[in-house]
Amino acid sequence: MSTAYFLFFGRLNDFLNREQKEQAIRVDFRERQSVKHLAESLGVPHPEIGAVQVNGQEGTLNTIMQDGDRAEVHPVPNGGSIEPRFILDNHLGRLAAYLRMLGFDCLYQNDYDDEELAETAQREGRILLSRDRRLLMRKVVAYGYCLRSLDSIEQLAEVIQRFDLTKRIVPFHRCLRCNHRLEPVEKEAVLDRLEPLTKLYFDEFQICPACKQIYWKGSHYEQMQGLVRRMTEDKR
Ligand SMILES: [Zn+2]
Repeated sequence: MSTAYFLFFGRLNDFLNREQKEQAIRVDFRERQSVKHLAESLGVPHPEIGAVQVNGQEGTLNTIMQDGDRAEVHPVPNGGSIEPRFILDNHLGRLAAYLRMLGFDCLYQNDYDDEELAETAQREGRILLSRDRRLLMRKVVAYGYCLRSLDSIEQLAEVIQRFDLTKRIVPFHRCLRCNHRLEPVEKEAVLDRLEPLTKLYFDEFQICPACKQIYWKGSHYEQMQGLVRRMTEDKR
């Protein structure tokens, strides 16, 4: 039997029990075990992990731990090394709609299974958003974030902070239903689909080329502006 000690920093403590937070945690193990494996055995998914030191030396997730080793494990810094394109776990439909409102490319279906989610994330180089740590611990998941909150607005704020998205917000250009980019459309072309008041008060329209949903700067747009303001103000 070997024994190692793990100290987690910053938001990685969110994954630990109260008595483990900010403490060197003792882990007993047999056979060859990597930092990644032991960290995950403590409940910390590898996509959340950034810098690793073992006995004060630079290490990685793949560093094999020896008896008596001490690991210091830091969260991935905010921001990101890849384009912020996402795939969302089931039941995150509201978060997907909010992210699309702000212009972010989000794959979401409520019937993907775990394997499809993980493999699509890998194949398309997308960031997997989930509340399920087990899913994020899958080997093929390179980029992911475990949502802490159950509330979709708070989740949105978490994602914006984690991936430093404030400056990348481009509202009103993506379909909330199906993620396609919207295209401008002449009012005349959609006239027969507009309500009388919409016809009267609005002249600029966009359409989703996939699902044909029409968008204009009405009440939806104001709601969205409110959301954008809220998300950008939270950052100050
Ligand atoms: Zn659409």
